[in-house]
Amino acid sequence: MKIRSFCDVSTAILRTTPSINSLKPASFYRNATTSATKDFSKTLQLPYTSFPIRPNVTENELRYEKMLNEELYHWQQENLKEFPPFVLHDGPPFANGSIHIGHALNKISKDIINRTRLILGQRVSFVPGWDCHGLPIEMKALEAGDDSHKTPLDVRRIANSFAEKTIEEQKAAFKRFSIMTDWDAAYKTTDLDYQLAQLNVFKELVSLNLVKRQFKPVHWSPATHSVLAEAELEYQDNHKSQAAYICFPLQDFFLNKVRISNAFAVIWTTAPWTLFSNKAIAYNSNIQYVLYNLDARVLLLAKDRISVIDPLQKGTVVAFVSNDLLQTLTYTQPLSSDKVGHLYAADFVDAKSGSGLVHIAPGHGFEDYSLATDLKLGVFSPVDDKGCFTEEVAGGFLKGYNVLGRGSKIVLKMLEDAGLMLYSHVYTHRFPYDWRSHTPVIMRSMAQWFIELTNVKDKALKALEYVSFFPERSRERLTSFVQTRPEWCISRQRYWGVPIPVLYNIETGEPLLTSLSVDWIIKRFSGLGIEAWFAPAKSIQEEQEWVAPEYRGELYQRGQETFDVWFDSGTSWTLLNKQGAFSNSPLADVCFEGSDQHRGWFQSSLLTYVAYTGNPVAPYKSVCTHGFVCDEKGRKQSKSVGNVTDPLAVLDGCTKKKQPAFGTDVLRLWAATCDVTKDVVLSSLILKNISDTLKKWRLTARFCLGNLYDWKHENIISFEKLPPIDQTFLSHLSVFQRDLLRLMKVPCSTAQQVQLISRFMNTALSAQYFEAVKDALYASAADSNVRRSAQTCLVYVLRTLAWAIAPIVPYTAQEIWEHCPSDVRLGFATPFHGNKSLVAKSAPALPSHLRNSLNMEWVQLQHIRDYVNILAQKAREAKVLGSSLEADVWLQTNSKKLQQLLDKYGSDIHRLVNVSNVFINKENQGIQQKWVFEEEFTPEEGNIVVTLAPAISHKCPRCWLYRSENEGDLCNRCTELIFHQ
Ligand SMILES: [Zn+2]
Repeated sequence: MKIRSFCDVSTAILRTTPSINSLKPASFYRNATTSATKDFSKTLQLPYTSFPIRPNVTENELRYEKMLNEELYHWQQENLKEFPPFVLHDGPPFANGSIHIGHALNKISKDIINRTRLILGQRVSFVPGWDCHGLPIEMKALEAGDDSHKTPLDVRRIANSFAEKTIEEQKAAFKRFSIMTDWDAAYKTTDLDYQLAQLNVFKELVSLNLVKRQFKPVHWSPATHSVLAEAELEYQDNHKSQAAYICFPLQDFFLNKVRISNAFAVIWTTAPWTLFSNKAIAYNSNIQYVLYNLDARVLLLAKDRISVIDPLQKGTVVAFVSNDLLQTLTYTQPLSSDKVGHLYAADFVDAKSGSGLVHIAPGHGFEDYSLATDLKLGVFSPVDDKGCFTEEVAGGFLKGYNVLGRGSKIVLKMLEDAGLMLYSHVYTHRFPYDWRSHTPVIMRSMAQWFIELTNVKDKALKALEYVSFFPERSRERLTSFVQTRPEWCISRQRYWGVPIPVLYNIETGEPLLTSLSVDWIIKRFSGLGIEAWFAPAKSIQEEQEWVAPEYRGELYQRGQETFDVWFDSGTSWTLLNKQGAFSNSPLADVCFEGSDQHRGWFQSSLLTYVAYTGNPVAPYKSVCTHGFVCDEKGRKQSKSVGNVTDPLAVLDGCTKKKQPAFGTDVLRLWAATCDVTKDVVLSSLILKNISDTLKKWRLTARFCLGNLYDWKHENIISFEKLPPIDQTFLSHLSVFQRDLLRLMKVPCSTAQQVQLISRFMNTALSAQYFEAVKDALYASAADSNVRRSAQTCLVYVLRTLAWAIAPIVPYTAQEIWEHCPSDVRLGFATPFHGNKSLVAKSAPALPSHLRNSLNMEWVQLQHIRDYVNILAQKAREAKVLGSSLEADVWLQTNSKKLQQLLDKYGSDIHRLVNVSNVFINKENQGIQQKWVFEEEFTPEEGNIVVTLAPAISHKCPRCWLYRSENEGDLCNRCTELIFHQ
């Protein structure tokens, strides 16, 4: 079915309104060149409005910024106390660096959800925040100025001022996105109250015995000298390691009572530098191991691996080795012959790679550590903060050599010199990198504080079953991150963070961490502030003031570790219930962040909340995520590629890119159109298209405003008295409202909302209804029933548009609202103030069966309209028809149902199909034979024959309908109107 293209409302208005700013209709109207040259324009109800097609974006921003954001937020908080609450909890961005387009997408998406909830009749709570601690800011502080000997307090002071400055800059930018909130009430993870709440959560975890100190492997970034959480790793698929097959000399090896000298266990490693930390070799009892003779050496390895290891192709298998034998074997370490190890069975060993025997270095791997802990083998980790060997290995010869660089090369050379290198090769694999410095990470063991997650994880996973995810696939992502997390290393050896309130016995080094001790320290913090922890004590006695009275006697000193920043932001749920009474229900309705937060904030919030409450309940009901912003070539926007869009340049324009100032609402409409299920694109062309969409929205509103200049509430026509066309249109409007309201209740559905709104404006309004009522609005008597009926519908349309678009483009919605006659506004200062009352008053209440049956008629009428359009198009192609008003239409049907429809709407159908006259079942009467286009259509209901032919009558110089008996005369309606009033 051919659908008529978008009707240009701008033309419609401009044709009749020469100046959009003139107070009176223009003194000229259509260029009627008939014998009757009388100017009828003054007798027409020409549209008038001062609402501009193009907004003054700067002026609007200045006018509405306070009113629609901060003031509105306070108003609804104070005045909608009886309304159900809606809490969107803001995941805090890092207070580091200037804002980028991702920030804009994030904050605007949240704001659209909040404003939508307000329209739906909820009281919104949205407190924005900032995550202030962490390494990047500390690094800046350390690098600032010339002083390289800064005290911890100096570093913290500088870092804090960096964070504060960034917050002010980011805040100023966020305000320009029109976010409904109170920015002065924003939270910071450096607020004393925030830190005290965080420490109280920690205290509870201590009392639940979930906090442990362990010497075990952690991901370590040599570049930034920092432990990294799983969330701070980025995996690179093409990392190249120098891997090696290495021979471990077997001791006293007998086979069938024959001693075999020169026997070696072959292991494969991608990190030969860890050989010094070897504590065992692991095998799998389900794998067949063999002795393999090669160049006078006897090698022990998995049978299945022989064929894939290049240098082994010349030798022969000399014997199979039983599990009984394997577990008796001992070996000496390749580069430390004084160290002897054993072989142990382990399930994680497989024959898919390597030799089928695994070198176990508990200091440098989680599985190795776990096996070694069970077997009590001990942990050795001779690597320092810079990722260099310590003097503990090779007699100190390797001290200071980087284990991933020169250190590794020397180790390989040492193995070759010792004749223990079987084969070395470059191996490309997936490898963890530091997400900030983008450099490789190593695993080393050190004493750290951990949150034990074994029992917490099950509850957390259960909790996720009750969370709604948008998109749904992110449920699996978050679930798998939680599932695979071994435990949570929460300590960092940094200054710029919340201190871990642990004391250490000066004599024994033993930590003191009990809820009583933490409670004492928290009380001191609330009096002295957090900085006091970092100030040196003047004496050992003064230091003891940090010790709770119950523990005094032995001497203690404060620890120097701070919390992982994900623990800081992960406890932000403490803000949501200041009474501290955490119930069994989620605290936030929605959390909405970038998809990278599955491994970050979504996870840390969940784990801390579940650990603290002990309940299998998440802190949020719904988790929504958005993708990353890409350029038109699909590349993620990043500083290094140089394709970053500055959101402020979208608002204010950019001379370099020759981009105009689009203003807040275009940026917001772009964010609203983003499909949250994938990465999103921003380019100049997309912005231009978005700007055109917004212009169409404005033009639609402008048509309504222009035709309501004389509207008073008493003009309203009750539904029963409306002509059938208006009744059926209102039913269609009501269906649109129903569909939109359903979508508005679904988080992350703004892209679909925008589509629905645009489709409704372009087809139902501009192309269909507006066309159908133009004649009634312009040419009928001002107070006629037909005009007041159309105006009544336009009032409902305007109210609907106001609440439909307000959450997405609040400044445009408000500008439209202010241009509405006061009786349309119902006394509401903004569409948001009307919220659900405005929604209720934007259509007459219709029983759903009536609405549905009338809407069905609307759809059938549109089909007839499409049929006429098909014929009109043919007539135009044949160059016999210009304006469709030059034609009349004849309709005939054999369907009872269609006949009823035609009888009901009668000749008024001409308004819907935009011709001068429609004749129903009047076969051939009066059809002029100059040209005729006729076609039979067969909708489901039966057939309908549509005939299009030149209009029988003459063009009326006033209304342009072909309804005058003689050329140049007015039609009956216009004559009546002009001369008999
Ligand atoms: Zn007329």
